[in-house]
Amino acid sequence: MALREILKTSDNLETLRRISREVEVFDEKLFALLDDLTDTMLKANGVGLAAPQVGILRRAFVISLDGKDFYEFVNPKIIFEKGMQSDEEGCLSIPNQHAYVKRPRKVIIQAYDRHGEGFELTAYDRFAVAVCHEMDHLNGILYTDKIDTELTERMEKKLKNKRKVIEGTEVLTTSSEENAGASNARSNNKNNSSELSSKGEQT
Ligand SMILES: [Zn+2]
Repeated sequence: MALREILKTSDNLETLRRISREVEVFDEKLFALLDDLTDTMLKANGVGLAAPQVGILRRAFVISLDGKDFYEFVNPKIIFEKGMQSDEEGCLSIPNQHAYVKRPRKVIIQAYDRHGEGFELTAYDRFAVAVCHEMDHLNGILYTDKIDTELTERMEKKLKNKRKVIEGTEVLTTSSEENAGASNARSNNKNNSSELSSKGEQT
């Protein structure tokens, strides 16, 4: 197992835009690639990483939303999509950027494991987002191609206003019940946004 360099769009856009080929041989080389993808993803605090992001143009990616359950997908196909969600995304190949992207809420995916055994998996919510994001990498598509501009702008504005209100409240009072509520809301917001951005950063 080893860490691999994650390609960035700033230096390797051409590679990241290429379409990856199917995996044909399920051998030690593939095992090493999948192990390395997982190690590299974890080291970068990611929740997903696709082979082309480390310069290997093969249809394989790994996902772990919580760092406990690990999923490997080889030659994956999305065979069913349902619903719509718009959530914050980021990409390890495009550091320090986030935006909202529209994705299906539920996807069913068919793929092979590292031993060439076929399986089918249903993914919802953030897991569905991660699957779609990584799938796109295999086709040279980046999340920045699909930004929900309107929502991204709206959320940025909202966050800015919220920060102002919170800071204002903090300065004005210290003991009213209203203020206690506001400070709770603030810490909740903090947790949520840091969780979101750490999730969003990572795929
Ligand atoms: Zn990505």
